[in-house]
Amino acid sequence: MGVLKDFFNLLKGMTITGKHLGRRAVTIQYPEQKMQMFERSRGVVVLLSDKETGDLNCTMCMLCMRACPTAAIYIDAPRDENKKRVLKEFKVDHALCCYCGLCEEACNFSAIKLANKYEFSTWDIDDLVWDVNKLQDVGRDVPYVDTRKKKPAAKAAAKPAEKKADDKKSAADGAKPSAEENKQSEGDKPSEPKATDTAAADKTAPAKDEKAVDSSPDETPESDETRRSADDDTKKGDA
Ligand code: SF4
Ligand code: SF4
Repeated sequence: MGVLKDFFNLLKGMTITGKHLGRRAVTIQYPEQKMQMFERSRGVVVLLSDKETGDLNCTMCMLCMRACPTAAIYIDAPRDENKKRVLKEFKVDHALCCYCGLCEEACNFSAIKLANKYEFSTWDIDDLVWDVNKLQDVGRDVPYVDTRKKKPAAKAAAKPAEKKADDKKSAADGAKPSAEENKQSEGDKPSEPKATDTAAADKTAPAKDEKAVDSSPDETPESDETRRSADDDTKKGDA
């Protein structure tokens, strides 16, 4: 029974192997072969530089240092006599970092990023503390979307639109009183007859005149005849 069971298990294993013989392998031969990491995968923390000038994007606002939950970021940037910050030290301790990405979220200047690089193991733990030069060098070829230049452009584009809207509003506000004034002035003036009124008046006026003209000749002959008949009657009576 035991031999039969072993033979059955061997057959089962060979069947599974045979099923995968024609398929592509999911494993790679690391370190000769390396996986292509996703753009948003969180590897080492790096500092980003301006694509044109090559200067650091960092403005030393310290927001990333305050956002870091493990105190892995250390920034020393005292103010000079002109009250301008001067960067003395910017360190990231990758031994303390938990790769949460909060520093990247806190930064408003596209200055810090978790790059998709992951090979930074070392024998000495102190080597995991990277200074500003190493952070910048490793981050030089890291692609990123520069949001710094978009904001002023968006603001500049928004300002004329706001100005136009204000101008329109002020023009509308200025036009309102004049319309009211016009209404008032129209109310003070004697109202001019409307076109329909004048037409009606033109129609009725001649009718009245005609009546007046027609009535006067009719009345005169009638009155003469009555007078004559009355005179005749009086003459007859006298006779
Ligand atoms: S990396 Fe960003 S958040 Fe941190 S200090 Fe520089 S500008 Fe501020
Ligand atoms: S990824 Fe998180 S733990 Fe690491 S430096 Fe940034 S904020 Fe700190």
